[in-house]
Amino acid sequence: MFDYRSAFETAIEQVKGEGRYRVFADLKRRRGQFPQAVRRREDGSEQDVVVWCSNDYLGMGQHPVVLDAMKAAVDEAGAGAGGTRNISGTTRYHVDLERELAEWHGKEAALLFTSGYVGNEATLSTLQKILPGLIVFSDALNHASMIAGIRQGGGERHVFRHNDLNHLESLLAAAPADAPKLIAFESVYSMDGDIADLKGTIALAKKYGAMTYLDEVHAVGLYGERGAGIAERDGVLGQIDIIECTLGKAIGVMGGYIAADAAVCDAIRSWASGFIFTTSLPPALTAGALASVRHLKANPDLRTRHQERAAALKARFQAKGIRVMETSTSHIVPVFVGDPVHCKMVSDMLLEEFGIYVQPINYPTVPRGTERLRFTPSPDHTDAMMDALVEAMDQLWTRCNVARMPAVA
Ligand SMILES: *Cc1c(COP(=O)(O)O)cnc(C)c1O
Repeated sequence: MFDYRSAFETAIEQVKGEGRYRVFADLKRRRGQFPQAVRRREDGSEQDVVVWCSNDYLGMGQHPVVLDAMKAAVDEAGAGAGGTRNISGTTRYHVDLERELAEWHGKEAALLFTSGYVGNEATLSTLQKILPGLIVFSDALNHASMIAGIRQGGGERHVFRHNDLNHLESLLAAAPADAPKLIAFESVYSMDGDIADLKGTIALAKKYGAMTYLDEVHAVGLYGERGAGIAERDGVLGQIDIIECTLGKAIGVMGGYIAADAAVCDAIRSWASGFIFTTSLPPALTAGALASVRHLKANPDLRTRHQERAAALKARFQAKGIRVMETSTSHIVPVFVGDPVHCKMVSDMLLEEFGIYVQPINYPTVPRGTERLRFTPSPDHTDAMMDALVEAMDQLWTRCNVARMPAVA
């Protein structure tokens, strides 16, 4: 008989052998004390930690306006939505949130999904059904959910070198002029912290008759006067065809959405399996997201403080010769380690000895030889927390003999 157990064990051993076995930290966030949390060790003992790698970039997952809206929705409407959007699962909360999101992004409509991952996968795969012969041009560093959607669509696809508009143009120029085309890219790339050239990409899209599909997952809430993302910051909201975002990162809750022309959203609504055949988000989540979006729109000071914190942390690392990856022009602070064993070791020591939690980023999330620690300082990370972090890193860089850069004064 087939030995199922050993097949699974072999699969795990393979991942371990490649040094990419993932160990999750068991955390309980402390309401009202973001970014602090309590970690439970395997032996059941507890430890206070400061979280330095959360994608709840602004601490909105703890914000009273969000929590109050969620509690009120539970009290008013109960727990689950009770169905798919089509079969009794469209509530007033969903409709109101979609309206708010559309307005935020300057679009006619928005469409909710159960996560950003599902939104990318469902939309990108469905576009290829709606537009037969669609040729997709995809940035080499696009997120796994975009790649999954593009592959599932099954049509012709070309990968252009990351943020390389010359390469993109050469691929566009080689495709038939009258074929439908889609350029799929992100604004802020979350591992390198670099930002795409939206205007340049839009210019190419116009020249070659392509649609643009922009994942703003790591920018929504964080950039632009009202927080609608890099497209707002760069003044091109109206020129991106489809914007895709998550409700789970800066917005602090969970879920995903696209914002686009009404016809685009209506077509995806009508065709995408990943939208149609799944229970819709609980009303409390959508109510929390709505409160969060309204708060983010009206509070640019949060974004100013967020950028200041990121710049402060970068400067502090650089003053110690700790290499912040030069690619980052955003709020993301990737620190280069360049070796998977060191990366994991430093991360383990930071946690056990210093109560500092930052997850190591190793292959296959990033290329081998570029292993890193990815810090995401929020408006709530204090100077004292930064002092403790930089002091701990400095000690470990010496102890583990990690290469330094010349210190920046
Ligand atoms: C996290 C992420 C997603 C998926 O969003 P979820 O809401 O977490 O499923 C999509 N795109 C990018 C670039 C991401 O980093």
